[in-house]
Amino acid sequence: MTRPSETAAIETQRMVLIETLRLAVPLHMVELDDVPAEHLLAMATRDATAIGSQGDDLQFGGRRAEAAFNALARGLAIAALTTWGGVTWQGLHWCRTPGCADPDDVDAHPQPYPGSTPPPPGPIRDLPDLSAWPPPAA
Ligand SMILES: [Zn+2]
Repeated sequence: MTRPSETAAIETQRMVLIETLRLAVPLHMVELDDVPAEHLLAMATRDATAIGSQGDDLQFGGRRAEAAFNALARGLAIAALTTWGGVTWQGLHWCRTPGCADPDDVDAHPQPYPGSTPPPPGPIRDLPDLSAWPPPAA
């Protein structure tokens, strides 16, 4: 059982996380908007690993909290950019629809890749080498 002061501290941490994600996720979305989908997939995979291995630092404090936060914010941004209907997490919603009025209405969200059909489920394949992204300036 948590003491009242612990409960208040946990709620404060949650509020800070929510408010910082409210700012950070759209910034990542702008930054990643023109990144090819296969690179976004590779980044999301890397971010999921970072969250899985460093998320405790984000939750309880630690030297890797910043990296875990950035991985969470970037992962949510990638999900918002690549999934039909965007992503909703902790009551916040991000998607490609400006001013989205109904995050739960998947049909109201545009297909993120018009003219293409989602690929059929298949085996996990090797991901591109992230060290090549971003490409060197010409
Ligand atoms: Zn939406």
